[in-house]
Amino acid sequence: MDSKKIKILAIDDNKDNLISINALIKEAFPDAIILNALSGKKGIELATSQDPDVILLDIVMPDMDGFEVCQKLKSNIKLSDIPIVFVTAIKGDKESRIRALECGAEAFLAKPIDESELTAEIRAMVKIKAANTYKRDEKERLAVFIEEQTQELNTNYISTLNLLEDLRTENKTRKESEASLRESEEKYRTIFENVQDVFYQTDLTGTVLEISPSIKHFSEFDREELIGSPVANLYYNPDDRVIFLNTIKKDGELRDYELMLRTKTGVVKYVSVNAQLAFDSDGKPHHIDGAIRDITERIQSQETLKESELRFRMLFDKAPLGYQSLDIDGYFIDTNQAWLDTLGYEREEVIGKWFGDFLAPKYQNGFRKRFPIFKAQGKIHSEFEMIHKNGDILFIAFDGRIGTDLNGAFKQTHCILKDITEQKQAELQIQANNEHIELQNQELQQLIEELNQTNRELVIAKDKAEESDHLKTAFLHNISHEIRTPLNSIMGFTEFMSNPDLAPEKRKHFAEIVQRSSCQLLSVISDIVSIATIEAGQVRIAEKENNLNSTLRLLHEQFLQKAQEQNVSLNLNHLLPDNDAKIITDETKLVQVLTNLIGNALKFTQQGYVNFGYRLKDNELEFFVEDTGIGIPPEMHHEIFERFRQVETTTTRQFGGSGLGLSISKAYVELMGGKMWLISEPGKGSAFYFTIPYKKNQKISIAEKPAINTIEDEIPKTILVAEDEDSNFMLIEEMLTGVNTNIIRAVNGVDAVNICKSNQHIDVVLMDIKMPLMDGYEATRQIKGFRPNLPIIAQTAYSTEADKNKALACGCSDFISKPIKKNILISKIKEQISKS
Ligand code: ADP
Repeated sequence: MDSKKIKILAIDDNKDNLISINALIKEAFPDAIILNALSGKKGIELATSQDPDVILLDIVMPDMDGFEVCQKLKSNIKLSDIPIVFVTAIKGDKESRIRALECGAEAFLAKPIDESELTAEIRAMVKIKAANTYKRDEKERLAVFIEEQTQELNTNYISTLNLLEDLRTENKTRKESEASLRESEEKYRTIFENVQDVFYQTDLTGTVLEISPSIKHFSEFDREELIGSPVANLYYNPDDRVIFLNTIKKDGELRDYELMLRTKTGVVKYVSVNAQLAFDSDGKPHHIDGAIRDITERIQSQETLKESELRFRMLFDKAPLGYQSLDIDGYFIDTNQAWLDTLGYEREEVIGKWFGDFLAPKYQNGFRKRFPIFKAQGKIHSEFEMIHKNGDILFIAFDGRIGTDLNGAFKQTHCILKDITEQKQAELQIQANNEHIELQNQELQQLIEELNQTNRELVIAKDKAEESDHLKTAFLHNISHEIRTPLNSIMGFTEFMSNPDLAPEKRKHFAEIVQRSSCQLLSVISDIVSIATIEAGQVRIAEKENNLNSTLRLLHEQFLQKAQEQNVSLNLNHLLPDNDAKIITDETKLVQVLTNLIGNALKFTQQGYVNFGYRLKDNELEFFVEDTGIGIPPEMHHEIFERFRQVETTTTRQFGGSGLGLSISKAYVELMGGKMWLISEPGKGSAFYFTIPYKKNQKISIAEKPAINTIEDEIPKTILVAEDEDSNFMLIEEMLTGVNTNIIRAVNGVDAVNICKSNQHIDVVLMDIKMPLMDGYEATRQIKGFRPNLPIIAQTAYSTEADKNKALACGCSDFISKPIKKNILISKIKEQISKS
């Protein structure tokens, strides 16, 4: 202890006390380290930092008294071992002592401090401190030891617990793995026993150590038969075994080694073997583990597939139909031989080329448009024209499908094509034939139609012919009647008239009858000639100046006597002023039409009136002839304009007539540029209308025709009458009797020509047309050849327009038809003489 310096802390608020204490301590313990604190708080700090061996503590101090300082020091486990000695000025203060001891103080010193007492106390305290320190150190060491031991024990305990847990887990795992192993074993055993693949184990000599029962399935050997026997027995080809062993020895394993095994009954099976070398614990090859898979079916199907591929390839190449495959853009991927043969190309000229280039140009655009549609729809049937390598155009029919990849996307086309050129040509030929036949049919149809039409027309014509026949028969009857009636009178009365004893009045009366009958006869004959001329299309219109009013007045005069005889009033009305009535027209025909209508009106009217006239309407002259006669039934309104048609058809008919008048009149009106119609009711009368164009004559006036009876004095002297018929000559001679004439006769054309040549005094020739030796036409031509200015008037019974025209064409100056009327004859002779 002496080696260590004693460290003493004195805590006192009184510095003097501290000096005193310090001196005392120094006295007693000169080596002692004395620490001073002037307050309790400072004292605690020093105690904490310096760990003094003893603390001398004053009781009475400001802020914190000695008791409180003592309590704090003793309550601090690190400071509680430091012995505290109270130093107090209160001697014998029992309470303070008790309290100091209660606070944990070890001793109590009273002031003034006795040096020896202080020394003893300090020494005692130092011992206590040393003991306390030792005790504390021991305690701490023990605590550390216990702690360490406890720690160790804990560690061991935890380890043990972990060990136990590990053991438990291991145990459980082991149990589980045992179970799983068992299960796995069981599973593998089941697999081993049931899988189709065969697992086996052989030793290095090739003896079978283990083999799965499934070997039975394809080798027909039982597992038990094979175990212990050489595996080589199973090999079909011993070389395979050699290769197998060499490979496995070299590489330690063998994968997918295909070989052939033989079954118990000698059937060959294809197998795939996987095997590996197994080693013992010393690393030496011990045995071989292997698995055998029966691939017989696979091999067979591969072979079948190969065969089928071969077959299809053959079919593909030898097929009679062309095949082509195009890629997504229409370029050739493949074709077969038939395709190449059809189009005459080599394979390398086609593959990789665009399909469109093999099409006839007019189809290329069509292909561009249709190819995407084909790809979208997946199939196509189409026909194109393709170009053979030699330039020929072929008709090709296509049937196509598209091929897709596993994802269903377009891969390529597959098309079969067929050359249908011949078929197409045949079709075209058939079509052409059909069209031809169709055409022929149509023509035939048309022919049939025409035939039918002809038949219909024939039927109509036949009907008409029959009707016409009937009409002609009726006509002949009528004509016969119409001719015979006047002829009868003429012949009868002329006979009476030849009686010289006939009284003069009777003779006159008979002559009148003969005259009238002759007129009637002439009218019938005129009608027949007119209708014949119309039907021959030979009627011509000869228009000339005419005073319409004069013409109508003349007609009125002409018919007035007959009307009066019938007690029917005949009225002419609605005339235009004379100046406006001067027109250009074919007067002869106009007069003939009106004569016909007025004649009919009077014929069919027993009482009442007959009015006729005309009015101007829209630049046309509308003529009318109205009567109050018997009228015409409606159904006959059209028919009466047809030839020979009469309302009255019976033999007991009351009215005469040929049935030609109206058809002649209508034809003339139409030729003049007008039309004809009627309004009529049976019992009430009829009104006939017709029109002609109003062609007003612009010339000032027309010289009135000279009166027919005033010309006789001016007749020229010499007239040559060429006439072979004596009676006709006599008639003319008679007509010209009393006129200042010298008549010479020629009996034929030759005679006429000669007379004209020899007699230069001839002034006019009346030339008959039909004569022996030379007809009038020829005689006229010849006479005109040497006497061109000699007037020649043709006189003939040929009275048609054509006859007249022919005569004029031969050189005749005029024309007069038989029967010749005296006044007309004289008028015409006079006209010619005045012109020459
Ligand atoms: P035709 O008088 O010579 O018989 P038409 O051709 O002139 O020949 O007349 C034909 C028919 O028309 C007559 O037969 C008669 O039946 C009828 N007919 C013509 N005019 C009249 C009329 N004014 N009144 C009654 N019937 C008429």
